[in-house]
Amino acid sequence: MSDTLKSTSLYDETTPVLIVGGGLVGLSTSLFLSWHRISSLLVERHPGTAIHPRAVGMTPRTMELFRSVGVAEEIRKVESPFPEESNVLLVESLTGQVFDNLQGEAELGDLFIGPVPGSAIAQDVLEPVLRVQAERLGGDLRFGTELIGFEQDEEGITATIRERESGSTRTVRAQFLVAADGSHSGIRQELGIGKHGAASLFHCISMIFEADLMELFRKQHAIMCFLSNDTIASGALVPYPGSAARPDLYRLDVGYDPEEETLTDYPEARCLQLIRAAVGIPDLPVQLKTVLAYEAVALVADRFEVGRVFLVGDAARAQPPSGGLGGNTGIAEAYNLAWKLAAVLHGEAGEALLATYDAERRPLADYTAEQAALLSEQRQTEGSAGITVDLTSVNAGYRYSAGAIVQEAGDEHLPLAQRPDQWKGQPGTHAPYLVLERESKPISTLDLFGSHFVLLVGPAGQHWKDAARSTQDVLHLPLDSYQIGGEAGDLIDAANTFCDAYGITATGAVIVRPDGFIGWRSKTIKEGAEQELTQALSALTFRTSPGKLGEQPSQH
Ligand SMILES: Cc1cc2nc3c(=O)[nH]c(=O)nc-3n(C[C@H](O)[C@H](O)[C@H](O)COP(=O)(O)OP(=O)(O)OC[C@H]3O[C@@H](n4cnc5c(N)ncnc54)[C@H](O)[C@@H]3O)c2cc1C
Repeated sequence: MSDTLKSTSLYDETTPVLIVGGGLVGLSTSLFLSWHRISSLLVERHPGTAIHPRAVGMTPRTMELFRSVGVAEEIRKVESPFPEESNVLLVESLTGQVFDNLQGEAELGDLFIGPVPGSAIAQDVLEPVLRVQAERLGGDLRFGTELIGFEQDEEGITATIRERESGSTRTVRAQFLVAADGSHSGIRQELGIGKHGAASLFHCISMIFEADLMELFRKQHAIMCFLSNDTIASGALVPYPGSAARPDLYRLDVGYDPEEETLTDYPEARCLQLIRAAVGIPDLPVQLKTVLAYEAVALVADRFEVGRVFLVGDAARAQPPSGGLGGNTGIAEAYNLAWKLAAVLHGEAGEALLATYDAERRPLADYTAEQAALLSEQRQTEGSAGITVDLTSVNAGYRYSAGAIVQEAGDEHLPLAQRPDQWKGQPGTHAPYLVLERESKPISTLDLFGSHFVLLVGPAGQHWKDAARSTQDVLHLPLDSYQIGGEAGDLIDAANTFCDAYGITATGAVIVRPDGFIGWRSKTIKEGAEQELTQALSALTFRTSPGKLGEQPSQH
C-alpha cells in the first residue's frame, strides 16, 4: 500500500476500490470483489434500487457467475417459474392472431452450456437480492450518496462523495475507481471518453403496468410478444414476473417519432388504450405504474480504462434491448474486471494485467452492441424473417482474442464467437462445462474455478501436476491442480470426454483463469514442464520475471 493511501488524515476514508453506481452492474461488481476478498465502497445516488424494471431474464451464463459467488440460490428463492418452452411471438395482440414464432430469441436457455438454467427474474426483483448479498459478503454500500468529483494521480483516486439527504460531503482515497454509473456516465464524460456506434436506432414509449396477464402468457408459452395491429404499428409486450414483494408487472413499448410527439402526448388514458389494444381485451382492468421515453442506441465507449478508472455496464456500452443482453453483458464485464483488480491488489499480478480488461471486453462490447442493433433492425425491416443473430454465441460463445491469454499459432484465424460447444479449449475461450465425479459424487468442471488459477491435466499428465507444486512456490501464486481421469486421477471422467472437450491429449494440460476462461494450454507433454508453467503463469499475471512483479508482460 502506498504512503499516500496510508495517510488517512488527508482523507475522510480510504478504500481499495470505489464503485460508483448501484444498478445491476455496480452491485455485481461489489459482490464479485468481495468474493475475491477485496473491500470496496459503493455509492448510489438513489435511496433504493430500480423501480422501473428494464432488464428481465438473466442468461444461463449470468446465473453461472452468480452461482460461482454463492448467490444463485438466493435468486432462485425469489424468481417466478416460467414456461420451459419460451416462445417469442409476433402477434396481432396477446389474445389475437399469432403471425410467427421468432425462435431465434428463445435459444438463450436451450443450449446446455452450464450447471444452471437462466432466470426470468426482473431487474427490480433482482437488484434488492444483489444488494443484500453484496452487503452480506462485506461490501460497504451507501445508497442516497453520490460522487460529485474525482481526481486521479499515479497512486490513486481522490473522490468527493455527498450524502444527498444531509448534504454532507466526504473525501475518499481509493486505489481504483469503477464507473458503473449508467449510460449517461458522468465519470466517462469527465474523462473525455467518446463513444462510437449507432445513435437513435429507434424511440419508444415504455409503459409499466399491472394487469392479470400471466395465464395468457403461459397459454402461449411466451416470454415476449412483438405486436402489430391497427392501433399499434410496432410494439413489444414483456412480462416482469413478480415476487412476494410485488405483483406481476408488464411492459408495453410502442415506437414513436420524436419529431412528431413527446412523452406528454402519452397521458394515462392513451396509455391504457394502447395496453388494451396490445392485449386484445378492450375492457381489461389495468393499473398504470410508470411511463418513460427511451432512445435505443448502440454506442460503445472509445476506451474502457483510463489510468485507475474502469468503465463497466451501460457506462461502457449502451445497446438496444433487443436480445436482452445489456445487463447480462455488463455483469460479465464486472466479472472480468473483478478478478484482475483482486489479483493486482493481492500482489499476485502486475498492474499491466488491468489493461487487459479493455483489450478483452471492448472488442466484445462492439460485437455485442452490433448484434443487438442488427437484431432490432431485422425486426423492424423484415418482421419475423431472416433473424440470424445467435444469442447463445453472443452471450456465451465468445473468445478473447487479446489480453491475459497465451495465444497459440493460428489463433488469429479463429472467429470472435460461435456456439459454445464448438470451442475445444482454445486459449481465450470459456472452459468447457463437463460433469465429472469425485468421491462418488458428481462435480462440474466449473465448480473448480472462481478463486485461483487452476491447472487441469489429462489422465497421463501427472508430470504437469508435479511441476505445478514448484511453480507455485516460485511465483508465490495459489494454483489448484487436478488430474482428470487416469488411475491416479483426482476426478473421474467416466464419459472420457475431458481431453476432447479441452483439445488436449492424455499428456496435455490447460490453465484456467479465475474467471473460468482458458489462459494457456499445452496439447501434449513438454520438456521442462516446470519452466513452461512458470512462463505461462508469469505471462498471465504480467510479471517481468518469475517471482517478481512488474509492468511489462513476458512474451511467448
Ligand atoms: C427497455 C429495456 C429493456 C432491457 N431489457 C434487458 C434485458 O432483458 N436483459 C438485459 O440484460 N438487459 C436489458 N436491458 C439493459 C439493462 O437494463 C442495462 O444494461 C442495465 O440496467 C445497466 O446496468 P448498469 O448498472 O450498468 O446501469 P444502471 O442500471 O443505469 O445503473 C447506473 C446507476 O448509477 C447511478 N449513478 C449515476 N451517477 C451517479 C453518481 N454520480 N453517484 C452515484 N450514483 C450514480 C444511477 O443512479 C444508477 O442507479 C434493457 C434496457 C432497456 C432500456
